[in-house]
Amino acid sequence: MTDHDVMPEGIDPGVPSVARMYNHYLGGKDNFAADRAAAEEFMRVLPGIREMAWANRAFLSRAVTLLAHQGVHQFLDVGSGLPTRENVHEVAHRVAPQARVVYVDIDPIVLAHGRALLQDTPLTSVVRADVREPEALLAHPEIGDVLDLTRPVAVLLASVLHFVPDEALVTRLMSVLRGRLVPGSHVVLSHAFEGDVDDETREAGQRPYRLTGAGGLTSRGPERLAELMDGLEMLEPGVVPVQAWRPERHGDEEEVPVDLTLPAILAVVGRR
Ligand code: SAM
Repeated sequence: MTDHDVMPEGIDPGVPSVARMYNHYLGGKDNFAADRAAAEEFMRVLPGIREMAWANRAFLSRAVTLLAHQGVHQFLDVGSGLPTRENVHEVAHRVAPQARVVYVDIDPIVLAHGRALLQDTPLTSVVRADVREPEALLAHPEIGDVLDLTRPVAVLLASVLHFVPDEALVTRLMSVLRGRLVPGSHVVLSHAFEGDVDDETREAGQRPYRLTGAGGLTSRGPERLAELMDGLEMLEPGVVPVQAWRPERHGDEEEVPVDLTLPAILAVVGRR
């Protein structure tokens, strides 16, 4: 996109957006100069972020495939991001063509692109809601039009809670979501973790995210993510980097190494 394209209301192309920075990591074109500049700055601090972003997408795809095979055919993708390859409805529909998917985000460009992509796709919807207001989110009428929360649903929280710095709020929103899920439902979570980073590198990585509408990036480690799964049964292998969450292994491929001193996107799936 160029900064001169017709802009949906509420967009300032000069302020980087976390959705559009992530789109740049994934090699997408739905971003502006300010997004690319902030993303490039972060990539200088963490050159592996592009591979991590793709590994995060691959984790999401494996988790959705697994749950769809297990009979979970409703997905609530919160902080869904700009459409990319292997969107959740495409992955779910490969296994279960009857699967229902609601995408939720707060970024107006994400909503505009999602709606354009999905206008002819039945059983899907795109909704504006804020994960920090979980009661209002769950009560959104368009979610109720597509999903039946009295039946098992998978709530996907992929790479979104690190944009909610308030620990008490994160604990509370998880508890509200969990409280609404019927047995057989799942929470699929991925989250940024800084590892054993030094202060200077942490500051350099924080800087571009402080410029965004989200205002920062909050690291959480394995213990904290396990705590957020409280009341849910964590599926094996627990909390691990996304690459190590049930990877597809071919032939005698080596196990994916887990080194929790390194920066990572961590993954965990919990079952209600
Ligand atoms: N879930 C996708 C994935 O993992 O590939 C996209 C992740 S992207 C890094 C984070 C998304 O969360 C962005 O689209 C952003 O707009 C959205 N987001 C950030 N804060 C949010 C909030 N408070 N409520 C809902 N969505 C939010």
